[in-house]
Amino acid sequence: MNYKSFDVNKVREDFPILSRKVNGNKIIYFDNAATSQTPIKVIDVISEYYKKYNANIHRGVHSLSQEATDAFENSRKTIKNHFNSKETCEIIFTSGATHGINIVSSGYSKILNENDELLVSEMEHHSNIVPWQMLCQLTGAKLKVIPMSIKGDLEMDEFEKLLTSKSKLVFLNHVSNAIGTINPIDYIIKKAHSIGAKVLIDGTQASPHIKTDLQKLDIDYYVTSAHKMCGPTGIGILYGKKSLLNKLPPYQGGGEMISDVTFEKTTYADLPHKFEAGTPNISGVIAFGTAINYMNNIGFDNIFNYEKELLNYAQDQIRKIEGVEIYGDSINKTPIVSFNIKGIHPYDIGSILDKMGIAVRTGHHCAQPIMDFYKIPGTVRASFSFYNTIEEIDLMIKGLKKAIMMLQ
Ligand SMILES: *Cc1c(COP(=O)(O)O)cnc(C)c1O
Repeated sequence: MNYKSFDVNKVREDFPILSRKVNGNKIIYFDNAATSQTPIKVIDVISEYYKKYNANIHRGVHSLSQEATDAFENSRKTIKNHFNSKETCEIIFTSGATHGINIVSSGYSKILNENDELLVSEMEHHSNIVPWQMLCQLTGAKLKVIPMSIKGDLEMDEFEKLLTSKSKLVFLNHVSNAIGTINPIDYIIKKAHSIGAKVLIDGTQASPHIKTDLQKLDIDYYVTSAHKMCGPTGIGILYGKKSLLNKLPPYQGGGEMISDVTFEKTTYADLPHKFEAGTPNISGVIAFGTAINYMNNIGFDNIFNYEKELLNYAQDQIRKIEGVEIYGDSINKTPIVSFNIKGIHPYDIGSILDKMGIAVRTGHHCAQPIMDFYKIPGTVRASFSFYNTIEEIDLMIKGLKKAIMMLQ
């Protein structure tokens, strides 16, 4: 695939926000790992829903409710096809990746005991650490950490040593949101399965860049959020193999998730409704499907190859700056560059770049263990998307040099 066949200027026209100004300058949005921007098609689908067929789903006999239900369930099929789950009912709508992880971790509170061990990687987002710590407190199970190297790769020898017959569950991100490493989940899943452990993959940072095949990778549980892949905030999915989700107790009780309710006893609905208590984010679900169609139209190969060019160019240019240190130098990376300039606090760099209309993130990126590993308080993180350009990276480099002059 030749990335030059990809017309970034045409793609940019799909994103209204990219033409606005910030502090008098045209916005340069390099905070895509925190949330992506939204194409006009997705924005329109949300407004169409409220203009034309806003109604509660599943229970109504009237036309609006049927239309809303059809659009909602069609979106589930789109998402099922994109991630290639075996069955549509294995796709559970959540408010986001965090919610999905909590559904699984709370379900395991009834399954684990103090003889069990859980394996987590050192490079996780807090949302894939804290729910499991809470689970360990409840059950007495032990949390073991797969260490990372200075380069930002997981230490696979250590992983294999930690994996024992006591390991019940391994959970890790496909891609690190703080340093961009793409983890070898294929290998990790095979190893974990060989001793009977299940694997939860946090795909939130991978799904905007890589098309993931749930069946091919034999993933047990998977979560992601729409707002990092051109969709709206407040919507995401939990995937689980049907046999596993059937065994997992429900997370919340309420409407929609029941089969029969009396004051003596309630029976639960079948998948996926068992985990979808209450009125869902209907327009969000519909818009998530639209976002996935939008990205597939551009093509994930095009996206990955073009973004790789952006990443390589940005890393080369940033490396030339005196006193710079880049964190995470894996050969397998999504377009994230996390760095510091010697003697300058990341926050100060972020503030000066913002004055120039350049949005980067500064801080620990909800991954404090990585910051502890590198013994730093935080980094400047520039994270790119397929609608960014080489010219924008040049402007950031110019801005960085100016910031350094002002701050040193
Ligand atoms: C953003 C992110 C999350 C959290 O996603 P929410 O949408 O806030 O629930 C979890 N893991 C990774 C790797 C992320 O990048």
